Formats: sequence, structure tokens, C-alpha cells
Amino acid sequence: MTNRVYNFSAGPSMLPLEVIEDAAKNLADYNGCGQSVMEMSHRSKEFEKIINDAEANLRDIMNIPDNYKVLFLQGGGTLQFAMVPLNLMTGSGKADYIVTGTWAKKAAAEAKKFGDAKVIASSEESTFSYIPRVNRGDIRPDADYVYITTNNTIYGTHFCTRALPDTGDIPLVADMSSCILSEPVDVSKYGLIFAGAQKNVAPAGVTIVIVREDLLGKAAANVPTYLDYKIHADNGSMYNTPPCFAIYIAGEVFKKIKADGGIAAMNKKDIEKAEKLYNYIDSSGFYKCPVENKEDRSLMNVVFVTGNADLDKKFVAEAKAEGLVNLGGHRSIGGMRASIYNAMPMEGVDRLLEFMKKFAAENK
Ligand SMILES: *Cc1c(COP(=O)(O)O)cnc(C)c1O
Repeated sequence: MTNRVYNFSAGPSMLPLEVIEDAAKNLADYNGCGQSVMEMSHRSKEFEKIINDAEANLRDIMNIPDNYKVLFLQGGGTLQFAMVPLNLMTGSGKADYIVTGTWAKKAAAEAKKFGDAKVIASSEESTFSYIPRVNRGDIRPDADYVYITTNNTIYGTHFCTRALPDTGDIPLVADMSSCILSEPVDVSKYGLIFAGAQKNVAPAGVTIVIVREDLLGKAAANVPTYLDYKIHADNGSMYNTPPCFAIYIAGEVFKKIKADGGIAAMNKKDIEKAEKLYNYIDSSGFYKCPVENKEDRSLMNVVFVTGNADLDKKFVAEAKAEGLVNLGGHRSIGGMRASIYNAMPMEGVDRLLEFMKKFAAENK
């Protein structure tokens, strides 16, 4: 396939070409069973193997402890903004939010519908250009959980290990929609992790939830059945029809990561790709990354500007003409954003760098 572009979209985004081509080969007749994964019963033994293998491989690559459930749900990251408080904000009815971007802000606003959700730290005053450091004393001792967004897709920031809040016994909940599988994560440090698939895992339609077992069964009696994690956990993500095709592709991506050396190998390549871009941006004298604290920079979403909005638009248009697509920043902030998830090959980053250098020389 020679006419594929390098797609720098924040999501849905690139998937590994091998996975797409293999899925294409198996599209009409999956593994010789005479039907497509899109057509088969979710109760068939073929699909049971697909979902069981997907879970086993995710557990393996993320090293998920046995006392955590893995759920494959629908509704995207957005539905988790409600499911998290509906299931977990049920003790004291309080939850503490660290607001580092648009998604975290939306999550906090949603939680406020259901209880005492408090924003204990925010970087909104500086357009979310850094990750605030939170101390133990900033967290309410009776909070039911503390909530973070690990990677801020729109602003290009990310919680480094040092910035992760020490919550003690209070469960830490993390939205990892745009960084899951890009770095090793100690799952045991979290009460719940969730991620919509369409950034780094699979097509849109499936949302991964990894939840500690003791946090299940705490939803109020009037919570809709579909929104109770325990229902999904007790039914192996098959309470109702799951998003079968998206789960199948997610499983293929997990297999590929495993074969390619696991998450550590992904992380090494992701660091290399991001560093190439940040090093050039910092030394270019033409582009600027608004995230000044290097520790807080995202490996997945590299945000940069020229300082001139018209020039930024020209950059995005000219890049597109060269097969480097979707480089515009989020509609709320403009500028440029190169999303370089696991499936973006090094050649894509090298091509972008070449283009950035040419554009800088022509427009200085
Ligand atoms: C994209 C994104 C979301 C929203 O995901 P949907 O699946 O579209 O609901 C939530 N959180 C983060 C960090 C995201 O990047």
C-alpha cells in the first residue's frame, strides 16, 4: 500500500499497517470459519476466544495483577466521566480532581452532577501548559478517589512519575485514553484506569476499563444497569453485545505489541520519536513548544506553534499536500499538534522533521 499518508491525528489515529492488512485478509472469512468477525455471534466459540485472548494478552503486556478486572465497554472515554463517580463516589460522596486539560475539566464537571467533586489543582490559568504538583495535604482525607488525566491530548502534557499524586489509601483513577500502552504503568498504584481505544489501541467503539476488584459493587441501587461496573465484571464484558470488531482489532494490537518486545520496547521507540521532534523544535529558533517544563511534555501529542496563526495555517495546509495530514492543533487552541502514537512509524516522524526544516527555511 503505497498511497497511505502519515496521519498525525489525535484520534482516531493510525493503526499498525500489519494489523489492518491481516484484518483485511480475514475480513470475509475469519480464520477459515466462513464468516466475518463483524457477523459472528458474540456467544460463538470463535468470538469467545477472541475476547479471552485479548484480555489475556492485555493482562500480560500491562502486567495487570489478578485482583483487577479488565472490562471492554462502550461509550468512549466520555461515558467514564459519569461511570467513575456513579460507581466510586459513593462513600463520603467526595472526589478530588486534578484538572490538567479539557478532558479532565469535563470529567470534573460531570462528577459534580453526582456529588461533591472538588478541583484540588488546575493549570487552566496558563492554558494547561504544565502539570501542577499536588501534595498529600491538598487531598481531602475522606475523598472516595483522586482523579487525573495522565496524558493531555489537546495540550501535549503528561504526568511524569514524579508528578503523580501520592494518594495513600485513596484510590487513584486515571484517564489514559491517549497514552495507554505507550509506557510501563504500575497498575497496582491505581484503583481504576480507563482508556477509549481510538487513540492508541483500536478503532473507536471499545473502551478499556481496568478496575481493582474491591471497588466493584459500590454503585447506588438506582444506577442504570449498563453503568454498573460490577454487572460487566460479573458477565465477562458480555452483559450485552460487546463491540466485537473493535475488541478483535484491539486484541491483534496487543498481540503485536507482545511480539515486538512489549510496552518497554514501545516506550523506547516513543521516546526516540518525541525527542527528535522536541529537540528540533527547541533548537529551531522558529517553532516553539508551549510546554516549557520538559518533564511535563507528552510523548504522544507534540504541540508547537510558530507564533503567527496565519503561518500555522499555512504549515498545516502545505504539510497536508505532502502526505503529512491532520497536523492542526485542537480547534480550541490552534497551532500545530503532531500525534505520534505507537503506530506512527519513525519514517513518519523523519518526514515531518524534514518538512518542518524546509518550511522554517522558506518562512523565516
Ligand atoms: C479523546 C479523549 C477522551 C474522549 O474520548 P471519547 O472516546 O471520544 O469519549 C477522553 N479523555 C482523553 C484523555 C482523550 O484523549
